[in-house]
Amino acid sequence: MDLTNYNNRDISKDYRYVKVDPIPTTPWEKFKRVVKRTFSCELFVGLWIVFREMIKFNIHTVQYPAEKLPISPRYRAIHKLLRLMESGNERCIGCGLCEKICIANCIRMDTKIDENSRKAVTEYTINFGRCIFCGYCAEVCPELAIVHGGDYENASEQRAHFALKEDMLTPIDIFKAGKQKEFPGFGALSKNADENVKKTPLAY
Ligand code: SF4
Ligand code: SF4
Repeated sequence: MDLTNYNNRDISKDYRYVKVDPIPTTPWEKFKRVVKRTFSCELFVGLWIVFREMIKFNIHTVQYPAEKLPISPRYRAIHKLLRLMESGNERCIGCGLCEKICIANCIRMDTKIDENSRKAVTEYTINFGRCIFCGYCAEVCPELAIVHGGDYENASEQRAHFALKEDMLTPIDIFKAGKQKEFPGFGALSKNADENVKKTPLAY
């Protein structure tokens, strides 16, 4: 199934109306219904339908975790830290906006001034036990450095479990293999972002 089908949730064309007998109210009507159901072998009809579907072998059950349904590109799953597409340097500039806006207070970061007198992010952690996946951090990030990825398996045996910077940052060998794509999902720039930028009305 591709995303086009996944997005099309209109299944009304497959609706079928089922004829429903009126609910019996008197004892005589109830007796008649029992007799009718017994002698029309409704139990075997039901069993036959189950058996017929079973031998078709086009089972729709998703064999999770071997199979997974595609998720929307805008799904807000576990975070990733991206690198710049041109240089491979880390995108995060350590501005701290994501840490400030996080309403669950689960982002912690540490920065230092490196040998080139530039700000460098030394530590970056997210406590996924607290994160509510609201997406504010991805939305506010001016560099599109922190984004929501597509991994949603986030079970843990402890309430407080953390992702470190190394867990979320695209590994450099993966980046060099060209496997980091520009992020299209939640928090990404829209295709007409330039058109949406309003010029400052003040004349300088
Ligand atoms: S998704 Fe929301 S709760 Fe989670 S780290 Fe980002 S801002 Fe905080
Ligand atoms: S991830 Fe984005 S918002 Fe957070 S510190 Fe880095 S650049 Fe700033």
